[in-house]
This record gives sequence, C-alpha cells and structure tokens, in this order.
Amino acid sequence: MDTLTPLFWLCAAVAAVAAMALSLFARTQRSHRGFGWWIGALWLNAVGAAVIGALGWVDVAASPLQWLFAPWPLLSVLGLRRYHARDALPGSAWQDLGLLALLLLGAMATPLWSPQAQLLGLMPLVAASAAALYAALVLWSVPQQHDVDGLGSLGALWLAVALLPALGAAWEQPLYGLALHAAVVALGSSVMAFVALTMSGQRTERVLRQSQRRLRVLANIDMLTQVPNRRRFEELARRVLQLDEAGSATLLLVDIDHFKQINDTLGHAAGDRALQLVSRCTLELLRAHDVAGRHGGDEFVMLLRRSSTQDAMQVAARLVSHLQMQSQAHALPRLSLSFGIVQMRDGESIDATLQRADLALYEAKRLGRARAVAADGDIDRPVFRSSQRLGLTST
Ligand code: GH3
Ligand code: MG
Repeated sequence: MDTLTPLFWLCAAVAAVAAMALSLFARTQRSHRGFGWWIGALWLNAVGAAVIGALGWVDVAASPLQWLFAPWPLLSVLGLRRYHARDALPGSAWQDLGLLALLLLGAMATPLWSPQAQLLGLMPLVAASAAALYAALVLWSVPQQHDVDGLGSLGALWLAVALLPALGAAWEQPLYGLALHAAVVALGSSVMAFVALTMSGQRTERVLRQSQRRLRVLANIDMLTQVPNRRRFEELARRVLQLDEAGSATLLLVDIDHFKQINDTLGHAAGDRALQLVSRCTLELLRAHDVAGRHGGDEFVMLLRRSSTQDAMQVAARLVSHLQMQSQAHALPRLSLSFGIVQMRDGESIDATLQRADLALYEAKRLGRARAVAADGDIDRPVFRSSQRLGLTST
C-alpha cells in the first residue's frame, strides 16, 4: 500500500460527504437549475480520489483515471450557466463543453504517451489547472447582479487549484503533487457544496420575499380599480387617524347613480370601465395624505384628513365635474354620483362612522341622487345638515 493511500481515501470520503449533502438537498428541498451539474462534479471528485486509493498511484498514473479530478471546475461553470439562465455568464456553454472534450481526449491519449511517470503524473495536473484557471476567470468576470459573494469564493478556490501543479513540480514528486491536488479538490468540494447551498438559500429567500410582496398586493388592492379594498382602507384610515387631532377628518361614501343601468344597457365591460374611471378621478383629486378605497360594488370611500364637511362638499363637487368631463372620452354616459359625508368623532370606530355616512348616502339617494348630503347626529337619530346638488344627472 502506498504511504499516501489513506490520504486519498480520506479525500474521497470528504468529497463524497459534500456530494451526498448536495444530492440529498436536491432530492428533498427545492433545487434549482444547474444542481445536477454540480452534483455530478462532486461525485466525480469523490470517485477520482477513491480510485487512486483503491488502485494505488502507480497503476492510476498510467491510466486515464487520474484525469477524473480535472473536469469539476468546467462542470461547475456549466451548472452556474444553468443556474443563472436569465443573465448569461461570460463565455458560452459550448466553450465549456469544448474544453471538457479536450480533457477527455487528453485522458484517452494517456496510454499512448511515454511511460515516464513524471510526465504522466504532471499532464493531468496541468490540464486540471488550466480548467480551474478558466473557471476562475469566468467567475471573476461575472456582472455585479449575480450572487457575487458565493461566486467570488468559488473563483478563489479554483485559482488555488490552478496553482497546484507549480507546487507539485517544486516537489519534483508527481505523487505529492497529486496528493496535494486531491486534498484541495476534497476541500474544494466541501466549499462548493456550501456555496451552492448558500446561493440556493439566498435565491429561495428572494423568491419568497417576491411572492410575499405579490400576495400582499393581491390581499390589499382591488384588482379592477387599483385602489385599496375595504379591509385595507380601514387599516390605512386607522393608521392615519392616529397621526391627527381627534375628529379632524371627514369621511365620504360615494355611490354611482343607476349603475345597474350601465351594466344592463352597455354591458359589464362598460360597467367595469365606469368603476375604473371613478377610482382614477378620485385618486387624481385627493391629496397625497388622504385615503381612498373601494367599499364594494359601485361604492367608494374617502377619508379626508384635517378637513370639514364643507371642504368635503367641495371635493365631492370637484370629483363629479372632473368625472363628467372624462365620461365621454371613455365611451360612457355622463356618470353621476351620490355622497354621504360625515365628520369623524373622537373615539368613534371607522365602522360606526361608515354607518353614519351610509345613512347620509341613503338620504342623498332618497332626495333624487346626484347630490351630497352631510349628516350629523347618531346612527339611530341622524340629522342631515346640508345637501348639495352636484353636476348633471345621468340618464
Ligand atoms: P343606485 O342609483 O340606487 O345606486 O342604483 P344602482 O343601479 O347603482 O344600484 P346599486 O348601487 O345597488 O348597483 C350596484 C351594481 O353594481 C350591482 C352589481 O351588479 C354591480 N357591480 C358590482 N360590482 C361590479 C363590478 O365589479 N363590475 C361591474 N361591471 N358591475 C358591478
Ligand atoms: Mg349605485
């Protein structure tokens, strides 16, 4: 048995553990494109070290098996190209495959070369070194938006692998050069598995964060009108009310008049366009710190901060004239709106305020629509303070 045989077995075990970890991860967790190439590269390293341990250096040196260590940087780069499929890495997969083919040719040509062990031992080391240098150069020219930390450490690793033949040559003992190579390959396999798992973890986290953002938008925004839905409106309203003096905001409940007729005569798509137009006009008129939302169906709700019911009346009038000017351009009949307006009270819940506004809106409808009614008093005994006709009535 060569004195260094246990070292090769140890290297095989270390590389196998790294390969196993990545293989298990890919089987049990979400794996990304490119993992297959990395797993293949790591198993090849483990097999390469095990073969030298099992057959002994002398036999392996004269066979193509010593070349098993050479391809892993190229296989890893191929994996990275798949992993970063959307943003191409420098070079191309064809280039990597061409270099792999050269390695294969070199390995197959081994039996044809001079039987001088010195040369036979050095050739695969030089080839592995060239492959590692190429891989390091590819990684270091990767644009900034990729997982640069992980790729940087892999690049450093491959540069270390590339420098090995020089050390091996300094020893003038190909066996030591090969043993050193096997040790760095084993260590590198662990680093590579770690980098792959870290990159995969980071990507999974990014994907999760993106889908969380998407879900939050879906849960909060009314997709048709692109304004907050009722639940989100109440949440936002509660938040801004805490910032102001109690009772300093007004709440407006808005309902499109005879909206069913639009659906019935012009179709549901025209109804949808009308809803979108009302929400757009609302957003265009409100100040940045006011809050608006779709209350449901053809009803919208607005919270005007630091304003009185008189201010709210003016906002309602402006909204209606803005809307009526836009209606024709959107192939819609002149839309008219009814408003229920109330002043918020100290300690009153949004729900209770909405109920009072609903009574005022009902009164506006009862009075003939196309008007704003401001209400005071309680839910069971509302007092309608003022009523104002707004714009022109729809059909
Ligand atoms: P009023 O003047 O009393 O408000 O009468 P109206 O016809 O507007 O009656 P109402 O407010 O009760 O009508 C609401 C209608 O809105 C009923 C429903 O079919 C329609 N609707 C609710 N959501 C949508 C939607 O997303 N798109 C469309 N096109 N129609 C909707
Ligand atoms: Mg309506």
